[in-house]
Amino acid sequence: MGRKLRVGVIGGGIGGVALTGALAQRGIEVRVFERAPAFGEVGAGIQMTPNAAKVLRALGLADHLRRMGFLPQAIVGRNWRTARENFRTPLITECPKLYGADFYHIHRADLHAMLVSLVPESAATLSASCASVRNEGNTAVATFEDGSQFEADVIVGADGIHSVVRNQLFGKEAPRFTGHMCYRAVVPFEHVRPDFVSPDASFWMGPKGHVVTYYVRSGAAVNIVAVNETADWVEESWNAPSSRAELLKAFEGWHENLIKLFERTDSVFKWGLFDRDPMKTWSSGRITLLGDAAHPMLPFLSQGAAMAIEDGYVLAKSLDAHGQDIQSALRDYEAERLPRTSRVQLEARERGKTYHLPSPMAQFKRDLAYRLQAMVNPHASGIKANWVYEYDATAFSPKPAQHKQAA
Ligand code: FAD
Repeated sequence: MGRKLRVGVIGGGIGGVALTGALAQRGIEVRVFERAPAFGEVGAGIQMTPNAAKVLRALGLADHLRRMGFLPQAIVGRNWRTARENFRTPLITECPKLYGADFYHIHRADLHAMLVSLVPESAATLSASCASVRNEGNTAVATFEDGSQFEADVIVGADGIHSVVRNQLFGKEAPRFTGHMCYRAVVPFEHVRPDFVSPDASFWMGPKGHVVTYYVRSGAAVNIVAVNETADWVEESWNAPSSRAELLKAFEGWHENLIKLFERTDSVFKWGLFDRDPMKTWSSGRITLLGDAAHPMLPFLSQGAAMAIEDGYVLAKSLDAHGQDIQSALRDYEAERLPRTSRVQLEARERGKTYHLPSPMAQFKRDLAYRLQAMVNPHASGIKANWVYEYDATAFSPKPAQHKQAA
């Protein structure tokens, strides 16, 4: 089988730590380099849909997920002003039967921490900011801002939407501002759950905007994601501070249950939403990309982190199966992941348009279509993500070695 594989991962976000943990579990030598001085995630919620839950289960994290997560009853589409239900996609009773796993809401910090628990301490280097990467003979080399270098058989850029690794491989091109900006906040309800927040993933659809609310931390807090269309450019950052007053002003006239929730916010943040077009390839030589570095997307199908986790699992399995045959490993990884993530990128863009229809007539037609589709199949109505949830990254099987000669 030859000598042991050595992998370098640039970026310790959700995708980078998922890959590092999956490689470490397979006994592959791996080092993850994170530019921040400590691992961590921002204070916000995240939906871990059944496709992601299947991977987390395969990584041995099912108990963590059950303990930290919240199981919503349904995805419910609501009118922004009247709260009338436009669609209801049942989850809690249906997901295990339909997709083989539950649908969770979880706090990002809890998700990140459970993935970090898979990373051996010796595999993590913090305060390490990658400046460049290059292919050199039979190795890939990463250089860091302090001048140090790391050589490996493969280097993976998991360094997010502004990826240095991507810029190095494919040229520098700024991500596209999508014309959406987003407020986020988490409101704690430690003792009593509020009667104005239902235990669902609620999608409130209005003209030129939508709001998603759901419980996290086993029901002890509510996450808010409130999206507005705007021509104004907002810095692409999790940490641009906003305020309760700004949030209330942006969603003036929306349903009283939302306003009651917004009135209870304490720290509110805002940021612009960016994406990129799907790529034709993610790899060059012994260097490849994963997660937002490869396929940043709008959050309207709630899939960016889920895709990064799936990528990590598939890449680890492919590298494990192909050993030193890096080209075959990266070829199989891309063949499995690129078509799926490209479709999710493009459909997420489309969802933005349907969620935000400005004219009452267009909204009426959309809502009627939701109801008709739901009569046939509630899982193919609403956000129409059943095809996303069905996928099982753990079933991926790399092609046998002879495939390489045939190609
Ligand atoms: P990142 O999380 O961006 O991590 C990149 C890491 O690399 C960071 O830790 C960074 O510090 C590090 N880094 C960057 N540059 C360097 C460098 N040069 N050297 C070393 N380290 C570096 N996804 C879902 O699945 N479900 C959801 O419900 C969901 N909701 C969302 C809601 C909103 C409003 C938004 C904006 C996104 C949402 N997403 C959701 C998407 C998800 O947050 C991202 O797709 C996901 O975090 C991407 O993970 P990543 O590891 O690829 O990148």
